[in-house]
Amino acid sequence: MAGEAQADCLFCRIVKGEIPATIVRESETTVAFRDINPQAPTHVLVIPRAHYPDAASLAAAEPALAADVLREAGEVAAAEGLDGSGYRVVFNTGAGAGQTVFHAHAHVLGGRGLQWPPG
Ligand code: 5GP
Ligand code: ZN
Repeated sequence: MAGEAQADCLFCRIVKGEIPATIVRESETTVAFRDINPQAPTHVLVIPRAHYPDAASLAAAEPALAADVLREAGEVAAAEGLDGSGYRVVFNTGAGAGQTVFHAHAHVLGGRGLQWPPG
């Protein structure tokens, strides 16, 4: 069923506490934790507790939950002191765009200059 935890999904396992993560913020519907391989001084991932393979399928199935992820991304940025300097929220979608974990997640990146367009 859509949204159900997947036993073989890394981020579902982080939600369940089976794999440790440095959690910075939690809500009823989302979890935010530091990326294990940070690409900027602040690099936090915000995920829905429910499993959807990418942001588009999440937004199509549960738009309110997609909004929760976006709101939490903003809350993380504010808590990290990034709302003055600016930051980037990224949803890599598909292997060709660099998605490696197929549980929807927002990258919140900041704390350094960010180039545009991204590589
Ligand atoms: P993607 O490449 O799918 O957009 O992003 C997946 C992110 O998950 C990568 O930035 C990667 O560093 C991060 N990641 C992969 N495995 C783990 C893990 O076990 N713990 C944490 N905290 N982050 C992970
Ligand atoms: Zn999952």
